[in-house]
Amino acid sequence: MRTLLLDCTYFPIKVVSWQRAMILWLTGRAEVVDVYEEIDIHSPRMEFKLPKVLRLLARHRSNRQVRLTRFHVFNRDNFTCQYCTHQFSMKELTLDHIVPLSRGGKTTWSNVVTACQKCNGKKGNLLPVEAHMHPKNRPTVPKWTPQLVFRLTDDDPLEWRDYLIWDTDLV
Ligand SMILES: [Zn+2]
Repeated sequence: MRTLLLDCTYFPIKVVSWQRAMILWLTGRAEVVDVYEEIDIHSPRMEFKLPKVLRLLARHRSNRQVRLTRFHVFNRDNFTCQYCTHQFSMKELTLDHIVPLSRGGKTTWSNVVTACQKCNGKKGNLLPVEAHMHPKNRPTVPKWTPQLVFRLTDDDPLEWRDYLIWDTDLV
């Protein structure tokens, strides 16, 4: 049994074990939002339900960042080549370094964009001004969103979905 942990603004943070959830609750750091109705916990002095969703009371400083991966770059750019602006499937896409690695460019969010194989090949080791190829959108660090992190299993309660943000493109 696991518990969905929300921050004080009801934004999902992560999934924790029920034991961890109990500690957060019993030490007054979190309040119960929803319980597993069917499960009773008995202790010599009290009886309670197992928390299904728990909300942290203190403000949680999240420094989560989206990991720089091929998927997350393609997803940020909506699977669209930033040069010819056509949409492609994941296996047809490549990562293009705007300033090529060979020219001192780094693998960072602001220097990596989605490119189809043809455009990437055409740009080669040239700078945008040399190739006359400029990315359609200025590449930025994507905002962390829980649907990129949460992988719900069939065993997880359906009610958790109420707290998660669903992007229909990703489901
Ligand atoms: Zn292209």
